Amino acid sequence: MINKRINTLCVHGGKDTNNSTGSITVPVYQSATFAHPGVGESTGYDYSRLQNPTREVLERTIALLEGGTDAMAFSSGMAAMAVLCELFSPGDHIIATNDLYGGSVRYLNHVAQKNGIAVDYVDTGNTETVKQCIRPNTKAVFVETPSNPMMLITDIAAVADICRRNGILLIVDNTFLTPIFQRPLESGADIVLHSGTKYLGGHNDTLAGFLVTADSDLSERLRFLYKTIGACLAPWDSYLILRGIKTLAIRMERITENAVKIAEWLSGHRKVRAVHYAGKGGMISFEVDRAETARNVLSSVKTILYAESLGGVESLITYPILQTHADVPEDVREALGINDRLMRLSVGIEDVNDLIYDLEEALR
Ligand SMILES: *Cc1c(COP(=O)(O)O)cnc(C)c1O
Repeated sequence: MINKRINTLCVHGGKDTNNSTGSITVPVYQSATFAHPGVGESTGYDYSRLQNPTREVLERTIALLEGGTDAMAFSSGMAAMAVLCELFSPGDHIIATNDLYGGSVRYLNHVAQKNGIAVDYVDTGNTETVKQCIRPNTKAVFVETPSNPMMLITDIAAVADICRRNGILLIVDNTFLTPIFQRPLESGADIVLHSGTKYLGGHNDTLAGFLVTADSDLSERLRFLYKTIGACLAPWDSYLILRGIKTLAIRMERITENAVKIAEWLSGHRKVRAVHYAGKGGMISFEVDRAETARNVLSSVKTILYAESLGGVESLITYPILQTHADVPEDVREALGINDRLMRLSVGIEDVNDLIYDLEEALR
């Protein structure tokens, strides 16, 4: 399922071309600025908002993993989202998946719309619907697949085809599946967005975000915004994400193994009404019989932690209605099935029997 090449890329990544010491890991260049050898000369590094040697190795690694030519590392996924949206101008229109990460919905509804960008939320899993929603001023389709939290699937290649015919950008949030399971640029997407806080970092110890592209014009426009806006990832955090990525492939493998077993077990439980799982990765949403059962699970799990976020080695469970999706309008939530009986589980790398035992006790 996982090819060898990507396993190796995770471990060896983008090489540190500045290092002649033989050090196996990338040094943390904790420097804000860099001295110039002479007037009009540069070592290639001027100021850490533009380039930093540690961050650069991370960026090269992410670009390689996603099959892109350039990746930019941000201080969080939302910082990447904010810079991405600066590609658009007042009067532009964006089509977005109707079941997005709640923070992305908050950004689009309260920041992008205020800046004159219109957003339509549609079921991007239905390519006909996407086609019908394109207006003369449509500039991009923003897709999250599998969607969050309902795990609905969008056919990236099919939407990419529509976008290409209409001269609009396809942007894919690849946080859930990571390049281990899904490489949107290879299916025709123009830009990939990541919350590196999640699987890429993998240890719940720092925030990060990425934008990746294989298009030199987009790379140039995004790099300009990147240095101008300044939401760049710090050297130490870059080091932590690089360290996390070394085990990305093996974590995704174990996480999927665990998640497949848990999804199967949940499906057979008498208090579970529905299980949403994409068949790979570690994200499972499930609906129980009553709100009381959900609240009871959240307050009685022990190995699994009741916390926001996902993608780490620790299994976490959240209550989308109160946490990640609290800012999604209520009627939208209802229509999607984000109700007070729905929980979202991020499966970690613990022993699967301990995780199932924990859920069994909590569902009693
Ligand atoms: C968490 C998340 C984000 C936002 O990333 P932060 O690093 O929390 O700012 C965006 N998209 C998805 C799918 C996420 O899970």
